[in-house]
Amino acid sequence: MTLFTVGPVEMDKNILELSSQQVPYFRTPEFSNITIDLDRLLKKTIGTVSDSKLAILTSSGTGAMEAAVINVFDHTDKLLIVNGGGFGARFAEICAVHNIPFEELNLPYGETLSQGHLEQFQNKYFTGLLVNIHETSTGQLYSIQLLSNFCKKNNLILVVDAISSYLADPFEMDKYSIDVTILSSNKGLAVAPGLSFVIVNQKTHTRMEGVANKSFYFNLSKYFVDVERGQTPYTPAVSTILQAHKRLEYIDKISLENYLNEIRDRAVFFRDKLDLDRYSIPEYPLSNIMTPVICPKDNAEKIYETLKEKYQIMVNPIGGELQHKLLRIGHVGSITYEEIDRLLSILNKI
Ligand SMILES: *Cc1c(COP(=O)(O)O)cnc(C)c1O
Repeated sequence: MTLFTVGPVEMDKNILELSSQQVPYFRTPEFSNITIDLDRLLKKTIGTVSDSKLAILTSSGTGAMEAAVINVFDHTDKLLIVNGGGFGARFAEICAVHNIPFEELNLPYGETLSQGHLEQFQNKYFTGLLVNIHETSTGQLYSIQLLSNFCKKNNLILVVDAISSYLADPFEMDKYSIDVTILSSNKGLAVAPGLSFVIVNQKTHTRMEGVANKSFYFNLSKYFVDVERGQTPYTPAVSTILQAHKRLEYIDKISLENYLNEIRDRAVFFRDKLDLDRYSIPEYPLSNIMTPVICPKDNAEKIYETLKEKYQIMVNPIGGELQHKLLRIGHVGSITYEEIDRLLSILNKI
């Protein structure tokens, strides 16, 4: 099976080799050194300074979303959630569970998030904004410039779930005054699932001192303290940390810019060669991590099944309203141009 999914994705051979090895004991100086280096490399890839705080969580990305929300905000806050699909809706569910007041900016499918959408929420005493910068369910990549300007003007804490944009699109935490960044291991980073990351800047770290802790496991301040000495409060996904570190070392070696260009080239190659008499691609801005493909005959599920059963190719189907309409084709992970060509030739005649 070849994975053209968004995550998990095809892993590199050297990462696969690592995952077959004995899991080492981790309360050692050797493991601490790896974690400390992971902290440095990870911050470098998201463009933030070393005094931002990193929490390495053993959970999928949703755990990091929840941890970020409950450690930075409480019932005295009022949050604005950009809800343009399944992941925006997830932020709303998290706030509802934890009794954190919120309103949603409901973005209808097909519309590009614009200044006009945000304007109606101006001067409404919000304290924070939650956004999935790439709404993976539709494939829309929102404008960070637009959101950053809005948050600055209204003095909002900007929380960005960059899980499905990280290491596929440029991301600059400090340049856009992003206060909290949420990441995970099995999408653009292309290693196993199980790790997620919350990075907060100094300003937000200070604010967190006034927020009452509501979770034992997800109390981020414990993670921030421990990471300084290369550790986590509880047993982490040790193997996945080793994989993530190796992957970040590799990206650092070839340079982030070259790495991102490679992913962009794959996305462009796919979009250029897709038969647009048979399919279409949404008008809104896209991430390079994947291409949402609109199937005009509402036969997305059928195509998904055929690719899987007949050709051993796995693409991302989608649940909910768009299930007959959209397929999502991933561009990250260890995939060759020959494999992309093969997928295209099948898609273009199916
Ligand atoms: C994948 C993803 C998540 C995390 O989902 P998990 O199932 O918890 O791994 C969160 N936000 C976005 C935008 C995602 O694409």
